[in-house]
Amino acid sequence: MAVDVIVIGAGLSGLACALRLRQAGLEVQLIEAADRAGGRIATDRREGFLLDRGFQVLQTWYPRARRLLDYAALDLRPFYPGALVRIDGRFHRVSDIWRHPGRLPEMLGSPIGTVADKLRLLALRRRALRGSIADLYARPEMTATQLLDHLGFSPRIQTRFFKPFFAGVFFEPDLAVSSRAFEFVFRAFALGDTALPAGGMAEIPSQLASRLPPGCIRYGARVERLLADGVLLERGERLAARAIVVATDGGAAARLLGVAPPPLRGTSCLYFAAPEPPFAGPDLVLNGTGQGPINSLLCPSNLSGAYAPAGQALITVNCFGTASDPEALESAVRAQLRDWYGAVVARWRPLAVYRLPAALPAQAPPVTAPARPAPLREGLWVCGESTAPPSIHWALASGTETAEALIETLGIATLGAGRSAD
Ligand SMILES: Cc1cc2nc3c(=O)[nH]c(=O)nc-3n(C[C@H](O)[C@H](O)[C@H](O)COP(=O)(O)OP(=O)(O)OC[C@H]3O[C@@H](n4cnc5c(N)ncnc54)[C@H](O)[C@@H]3O)c2cc1C
Repeated sequence: MAVDVIVIGAGLSGLACALRLRQAGLEVQLIEAADRAGGRIATDRREGFLLDRGFQVLQTWYPRARRLLDYAALDLRPFYPGALVRIDGRFHRVSDIWRHPGRLPEMLGSPIGTVADKLRLLALRRRALRGSIADLYARPEMTATQLLDHLGFSPRIQTRFFKPFFAGVFFEPDLAVSSRAFEFVFRAFALGDTALPAGGMAEIPSQLASRLPPGCIRYGARVERLLADGVLLERGERLAARAIVVATDGGAAARLLGVAPPPLRGTSCLYFAAPEPPFAGPDLVLNGTGQGPINSLLCPSNLSGAYAPAGQALITVNCFGTASDPEALESAVRAQLRDWYGAVVARWRPLAVYRLPAALPAQAPPVTAPARPAPLREGLWVCGESTAPPSIHWALASGTETAEALIETLGIATLGAGRSAD
């Protein structure tokens, strides 16, 4: 028997889409290849530690996340707004002075850039916060580094702050990403907290999935092919629906739709168990030297005790790209960690090395805000990163808006065809 809508993929976009469709009273079947919801947002349990799959955080400003997620239930644990930057053999604190005005003298004296650079941060902030999100994505576009050059930022602050901080978001060491995507992310950091749910990032999709009725998500089922009136599963089963929404990652969507896959950026993440953390606070540590394999480091267990068993700490180290030799990467990371934290690093026990080659689509220009969703052909829709920039905000937005457009279309068809036939 045909359902109203099959949604392929239970990542954030598929979950948001299914929730909105069900709110409208439609019968929805979510088909998910994995054995859990969440797609790229995942948290693995290992020896009592919670390992978020890659360096992932929630920017609480995201308008769609605020609307769809119950932040209180996620028990969000914010990072310090700023970072500790490793430069010239020392860690220097960089602060968001709008939230910590008392840190202004320290900021003005810090070696991350010149005094003029720090004043230029005001101009960048004003620019990134001006207008609606749609306005921001309609601005003349260049790369982020061209924008920083254009605004007069010195090479010093670009190497010591902008590249390690923002390139770690885009997984692009040279920050050759769209200035629109860069300003969107700058706005997110400026207007909200950067946080982890107390129980790990997977709590985000789990919360959404828990609002769907039992059986609505079918796990361990991979869609092999799209059919005119439904989908064909890997094991040969056919499922029929009045409409299909492809909410997979860009690579899988490209295979299903027969189009070229998007270029992707990868990351590697190393996890260590330590008797104690190398610092006490909820800080993100950045490598401002431009040398060595480490991009950033954090201690999730400093934010929430659930990340590590009692009496232990979890240390997560993020690196650009996906190393072909994880052992060589680990020894290069350890050498840099020894330089940063000394002999204590010998007591850090490796828990895992994750290689994530398909972490994010590249965000080189042009990057545009998603157009109003429209079917590719009658009854076939796409949402998620094939139609929107990658991020928690855009995944939720594209899923919800695609559902709304589909509801409108089905509503019109229903009036003509007579919904009671279902
Ligand atoms: C390491 C990392 C760090 C990130 N950090 C951040 C961050 O800090 N902040 C932020 O905003 N964003 C971040 N992102 C981006 C954000 O997580 C993604 O943009 C978003 O989760 C994508 O959601 P999605 O639903 O579009 O796709 P996905 O999460 O990829 O979900 C797609 C789903 O489709 C399923 N699927 C694929 N093919 C099939 C098939 N044939 N049949 C059935 N199911 C299928 C997959 O199993 C998957 O569950 C990060 C991503 C990564 C990987």
